[in-house]
Amino acid sequence: MPTLCGMNRAFTTEAVHAGRQDLADLGVHAPPLDLSTTYPAPDSHAEAERIAQFAAGEQPAGSALYSRLHNPTVARFESAMATLEQADAAVGFASGMAALTACLQASVIAGKPHVVAIRPLYGGSDHLLATGLLGTDVSWVQPDQVAGAIRPDTGLVIVETPANPTLSEVDLATLAQACGSARLLVDNTFATPVTQQPLVHGASIALHSATKFLGGHGDVMGGVVACDEEFAKLLRQVRIATGGVLDPFSAYLLHRGLPTLPVRVREQSRTAAMLAELLADDDRVSAVYYPGLVEDRPTQMDSGGAMIAFEVDGDATKVVSAVRLMTPAVSLGSVDTLIQHPASLTHRIVAEDARADCGVGETLLRLSVGLEAAVDLWADLDQALDAR
Ligand SMILES: *Cc1c(COP(=O)(O)O)cnc(C)c1O
Repeated sequence: MPTLCGMNRAFTTEAVHAGRQDLADLGVHAPPLDLSTTYPAPDSHAEAERIAQFAAGEQPAGSALYSRLHNPTVARFESAMATLEQADAAVGFASGMAALTACLQASVIAGKPHVVAIRPLYGGSDHLLATGLLGTDVSWVQPDQVAGAIRPDTGLVIVETPANPTLSEVDLATLAQACGSARLLVDNTFATPVTQQPLVHGASIALHSATKFLGGHGDVMGGVVACDEEFAKLLRQVRIATGGVLDPFSAYLLHRGLPTLPVRVREQSRTAAMLAELLADDDRVSAVYYPGLVEDRPTQMDSGGAMIAFEVDGDATKVVSAVRLMTPAVSLGSVDTLIQHPASLTHRIVAEDARADCGVGETLLRLSVGLEAAVDLWADLDQALDAR
């Protein structure tokens, strides 16, 4: 369990209090939701100066001016995420994909369009890189080939650990060494900062689809990038220019959910570990991929997390159709349990040969474990597995 880490206080304490430092001075207890799109700007000369600072990715004190440039509710959530990921700064976006887009665009404008990437990645991320839509050029490699793939124009090395959907892990400290001067971007959506803080292990950037565990209730869409201040400035420049801002109401909900994030993730992980063991002992299941079940793996996670992948002996899609308590649906990280067939849904958009190469086959299912009792979840899985 993360206790003090590099933080001044324990992780659970920071989860409750981070990003709330200005509240006492405002005379309020709960963070206010500021829905203003514009802010009074009576001194045009002063604002002209501040506009230039915003456009350069800085965060000048004073009026927010316009909500695409700055929003206090969003800024509180960002400040909290920077603390929880032990980063200089965090920048919020409209979704996880908007966050990844901004990272790629930031690298391109910094003159480093080459990306080294390790599969599997979330299907949408794989697609964005494979299409080169944003002017990036990707080299797909295995973790031990990263050092050899780095070029002078390599801006980012991108990895997910544990990866979506196979839960495969990569040792971050080793990988960080192989990256040279390129920034190592870790999509930390599956682990959350509760179980793993990539920057502590040498990564430069931790990216989240906040839509998942950070939101935690299946009702918010957002993305956030925790990183050094230099990269954060580039991200803010991109965000101001392209407009993929995190909506203040979403930021409010995300910040509201952070105090319970450690409690949720630890309980969901505890249940996931139990289900993973039951699946591993079941004849109807041909393989289970869960960090807690793998021997000789990186020690960078504090628990196995709340995601499980497994393969069934038979038609996996029939299991999805047969669940009664779980919801057959994409997305993950909610308080309720979700199950889906990656080859048909989340990873459909990945090239077929690449999909097979990185372990996303027809028999694979992905389970996001919620807060229901393990006994009820197992009863549902048990009856659904008979349908395969
Ligand atoms: C869902 C997901 C994304 C994309 O996030 P959105 O919020 O859906 O845009 C990126 N990475 C991972 C690992 C994801 O699971």
